[in-house]
Amino acid sequence: MVNKRLNAKFIGNAILNSPVEYALQILGDKSTLLILKSIWLGKRKFEDFISGTGVSRGTLSSRLKFLLDHGIIYKDIYQSGPRRYEYKLTEKGLDTYPIASYLWEWNNHWTENSDVPEELIHTSCGNYLNLSSNCQHCNKTIKISDVQFQIKENLKFSKLTSFKARRSENSSNNISNNIFQIEDLLGDRWTGLVYAGLLYGLRRFDEFNEALEISTNILANRLKKFLDAGVIEKRIYQHKPARYEYRLTKKGRSGYLTAIHLHFWANKWMLNSKNNPISLIHVPCGKDLSIKTICTSCSEVVEPSKVSVPLSKAATAL
Ligand SMILES: [Zn+2]
Ligand SMILES: [Zn+2]
Repeated sequence: MVNKRLNAKFIGNAILNSPVEYALQILGDKSTLLILKSIWLGKRKFEDFISGTGVSRGTLSSRLKFLLDHGIIYKDIYQSGPRRYEYKLTEKGLDTYPIASYLWEWNNHWTENSDVPEELIHTSCGNYLNLSSNCQHCNKTIKISDVQFQIKENLKFSKLTSFKARRSENSSNNISNNIFQIEDLLGDRWTGLVYAGLLYGLRRFDEFNEALEISTNILANRLKKFLDAGVIEKRIYQHKPARYEYRLTKKGRSGYLTAIHLHFWANKWMLNSKNNPISLIHVPCGKDLSIKTICTSCSEVVEPSKVSVPLSKAATAL
């Protein structure tokens, strides 16, 4: 993102009222992400989620209910006596495919413990789904350095309706560089918000603290996690006393397409494109950014309903 530096509080206010905050209230939870990942990989049944995710039965029930309540999945009866259900993605859920696809691409590229590559298929052409995100207007591939953001100055912020807070069984400690998974990057609301802050130009401890209304111990924990994982690096900006700021590394910056798709997904499905305090501009053409996702194998625009799991995996999942 290329921008002049803005006041931290101003940026924070926009982030906390942006679609990304909405999205993180729903998806910013490690168990939820693991369940969605299982569904994307072809699992449908309660017991399969238990074995596939390691999430406890109680947590699984509450997260499934949460995803049902928010219209991301629906229940489908597959057996009537006794009654048994499968869980499937709704249109809103299917529309998260670019987020899932970029999350896994990031994982496969940057972490070492991906024993099985997690891939989706573009059913229109039968190839593994490899996405290119292009500008709707000028058709150029979206690069992080070509995206600028604008915050609506006069928008009257109305506080988001907070969803019922979930108690997260916090997992964020002891994450080493090698096993830092993308679920950890978005796996809790604060981690996601700090990442959004980094993309929008926050750099210093005090800026994050002030902008995101985040307590100093949670902030210190999340920054350390990012440092350990090589997502950010520390740069000295003042000697005597030494003061540091935090910048995204190449690894950290390469998560931007996930963040941008999260922004658009929440904007479309949760804000109905209204009242979004942050707009993104595509610098090469100067227009408001809107994205089309194209399959690099067949060059077609990918429809959510044309994304599937590999047949062999689907077969074993059923
Ligand atoms: Zn453009
Ligand atoms: Zn294709």
